Amino acid sequence: MTKSHILGASLQELEALVASFGQPAFRAKQIHNWMFQNLESDFAKMTNLPKALVESLQASATCSALKVKANQVSTDGTTKWVFETHDGHFFETVLIPTDDRRSICVSSQIGCAMGCTFCRTATMGFIRNLTLGEILEQVHYVSRHVRALDGGRVSNAIFMGMGEPLLNLDNVATACEIMNSQEGFGIAKDKITVSTSGVVPKILEWGARAPDFKLAISLNGSNDEMRSSLMPINRRYNIDTLLKTADEYIRLSGQKLTFEYILIKDKTCTPESARELKRIASHRHCKINLIPLNRGNPDMEAPSDDEIAEFERILAQGDFQVLRRRPRGPDIYAACGQLATEQKKVA
Ligand code: SF4
Repeated sequence: MTKSHILGASLQELEALVASFGQPAFRAKQIHNWMFQNLESDFAKMTNLPKALVESLQASATCSALKVKANQVSTDGTTKWVFETHDGHFFETVLIPTDDRRSICVSSQIGCAMGCTFCRTATMGFIRNLTLGEILEQVHYVSRHVRALDGGRVSNAIFMGMGEPLLNLDNVATACEIMNSQEGFGIAKDKITVSTSGVVPKILEWGARAPDFKLAISLNGSNDEMRSSLMPINRRYNIDTLLKTADEYIRLSGQKLTFEYILIKDKTCTPESARELKRIASHRHCKINLIPLNRGNPDMEAPSDDEIAEFERILAQGDFQVLRRRPRGPDIYAACGQLATEQKKVA
């Protein structure tokens, strides 16, 4: 029997569960507090629960269904875990600490169907969506790790691990709500970002369902030919269609949109691409997040510091904000999918 994952259960659902074991409703609140205030995942350690309830929970429910199969810690503190699911699949979660933030990069699917050519996850193909419990358990596990490390808490979350989050929209939206809730993980709404490859029909659905969370679109190419060569989804929804939808999303949600843009030597990181990207971002309520290519891709090369500086100089003439992501955890293969695909080979 597959145990029900209760990290994503509402208080009412927990009350129904404890009632099915013949227990009063207040036990549900106790379990909830153990899971979210104490970050406990072992029912046996929930010391104010009666033994009979602990045994019933152990037999039919879980809040820790994942096994850690591998973990790597970078010299810069970035930590990556590979989790194994109950059905034997692997996926990744990354903690990126800075002086004032504890950011978690969350996976939404096992593998991915989008086929981006620069991404190791794409080589796995799509296996399945992560469940609500599996998504939340990543945040739960890392929150416990951060608390044990320095007493801190996860402050930021981005769905930019494995998978296309808007193709698992219901689970991702509910996870965001629980991640934000004060009874949940208490992460501020504007610190939770969902990053999409540009699944146009889902962008407005997301905007209607979860308008207060941040949305990022992986642009990664400044014209259709370039973007299609990196992201097959561009052949279905080209840049023009994507930008029209992005504008509608900005209008409906009132949110500033982030465009992520990967910098690849002689491909996306050229002065001409910078000028095209500047035209795209100009007069839009958006910011640009530049992401220098991570190592580990045999077919593509990261640009030099001078090439990136020239790219940034051209963008700086625009009327929008530009940020460059510092490479994190380069010594531990921190890019999306690298460690889980390695794990698959050895498993
Ligand atoms: S970059 Fe994201 S959307 Fe593209 S294949 Fe990788 S996981 Fe999927």
